[in-house]
Amino acid sequence: MESQPIRRQTRTVQVGSLKIGAAAPISIQSMTNTDPHDAETTYRQVKALEEAGCEIVRLAIPDLISCDTIYRLKERGIAVPLVADIHFDYRIALAAVEAGIDKIRINPGNIGSEEHIRAVAKACQTHGVPIRIGINSGSLEKHILRKYGAPTPQALAESALYHAKLLEKYDFTDIVISIKSSNVLCMIEANRIVGAACDYPLHLGVTEAGRGDMGLLKSAIGIGTLLCEGLGDTVRVSLTDSPLEEVKAAQAILRTIGLSSRPYIDIISCPTCGRTKIDLIPICEELDKRLQGISVTKKLTVAVMGCVVNGPGEAAQADIGIAGAVGEAVLFSHGKIIRRVSEKNLVDELICEIQKLLESE
Ligand code: SF4
Repeated sequence: MESQPIRRQTRTVQVGSLKIGAAAPISIQSMTNTDPHDAETTYRQVKALEEAGCEIVRLAIPDLISCDTIYRLKERGIAVPLVADIHFDYRIALAAVEAGIDKIRINPGNIGSEEHIRAVAKACQTHGVPIRIGINSGSLEKHILRKYGAPTPQALAESALYHAKLLEKYDFTDIVISIKSSNVLCMIEANRIVGAACDYPLHLGVTEAGRGDMGLLKSAIGIGTLLCEGLGDTVRVSLTDSPLEEVKAAQAILRTIGLSSRPYIDIISCPTCGRTKIDLIPICEELDKRLQGISVTKKLTVAVMGCVVNGPGEAAQADIGIAGAVGEAVLFSHGKIIRRVSEKNLVDELICEIQKLLESE
């Protein structure tokens, strides 16, 4: 039985057809990196993200003309909720709302006069569009920076709550807060502070995490630590890579903590040692590859273990697994050996058993 973190209670924010908050599964976001004026290319990337399991897609909307892309995406039936990333210009926020955007990311303290804030809050309220307040080390207000002297976790948290207050003044509470930093410890602490101070859903991410293993690790530690504490309602892994890789990484983080809302196959495989009796590493690689093409309808745990001495026992939770012996392997389920299979057919046999499990009630 998989245990899950107890999530922090939050209010629920509706973003298009999707809910963000403790009452809903944790959603995965990413952001397009296409030219926002190129509706066709952006459409293709949004579709690819949706197919990869991305549940909210953010677009940079740098000017009024790019709001036309929102119209076009909506016109072509894009179902995944779209978020417009807007900086400073309240007129773009109003135009994005008119164009049918599902959520906007804007910091109300950066859009000028009270009148501008009121206009954005009112338009969003009328159209049921929530606002994400997005704080990072570079976005801090001068008065907050003066008070703390540096972008400390306390300073970031205070800034987020300051922006929320500006909206609350106009009875606007459909708010999601994100506090990001490239400093993982700072991001973790700032989110803890805000999580304790309000009930707005939290969008988690480590900004400028970089690429490759380090980008993944920073994100996994930052996002993962908070999720384990029950904080966080939607996540974006920011990688210097294709947005599709961000979705894959976010799915992996949620799976690791038992918070994925989608079925998947969890492969557990041993690290190999002097007792290993089969060529385990290529077997795992092949299995991984072949499982990509399988439609997964339920959560399964599949084990690939190097020896029968420890394999079936160590992987007793596996629905199906193999453990290496000399020239062959034993096939086991929940620790019990079912039969022996030749080393040559290992992956075929395993795939066949996985298919049977997926098709069974
Ligand atoms: S399962 Fe067997 S081969 Fe694999 S690490 Fe453990 S003892 Fe070694």
